[in-house]
Amino acid sequence: MARYTGFNCRICRRETMKLYLKGDRCYSEKCAVERRNYPPGQHGQNRGKFSDYGLQLREKQKIRRMYGLVEKQFKSYFKEAERQKGVTGTNFLILLERRIDNTVYRLGLASSRDQARQLVRHNHFLVNGKKVNIPSYLLRPGDKVAVAESSRQITAINEAIDAMPRRGLPPWLELDKANYEGIFKALPTREEMNLPVQEQLVVEFYSK
Ligand code: SF4
Repeated sequence: MARYTGFNCRICRRETMKLYLKGDRCYSEKCAVERRNYPPGQHGQNRGKFSDYGLQLREKQKIRRMYGLVEKQFKSYFKEAERQKGVTGTNFLILLERRIDNTVYRLGLASSRDQARQLVRHNHFLVNGKKVNIPSYLLRPGDKVAVAESSRQITAINEAIDAMPRRGLPPWLELDKANYEGIFKALPTREEMNLPVQEQLVVEFYSK
């Protein structure tokens, strides 16, 4: 399935929650979910209850869209999470959080995961001093992520850093704004991720 390229706000409205797909706008009163918190379309306000399958599907779609992944990639993370020891749902979210594009966004070096993905692809980031341009690159505890020296004047990066205080830094990351770098200190716990999602529904969806 191809990546969805339609209006991001429609995705949030479809899931009736803010997925923070558009950077600054998401924190303003212009946010579509703030203004119309019901699914788009003619029957958006009159949708009935979901079946168990419907609930699982919606939760799976919500998380997939939040991280901006295509179905094949998303499912492969789930399979990997199943192979690991521990709680599959938590392993799954940790894998998603370890992606470099997500970490660049979480560090506040990009205003959305979409923008982070683009910036990584365009060679603007280093991991432990080496260029990494694969958005799905998985970070390990102790890895240092830095903006390449030649990319420190990029407006999008500097604007994102300026807006960072509004978003807050997750506890498993450390940011050194002055040096345009951050550290992926440790794998996050489920509590630290503080994500408004029910990953157990995704486990049930893929376990059928
Ligand atoms: Fe979602 Fe952001 Fe659009 Fe609000 S502004 S609906 S959070 S993408």
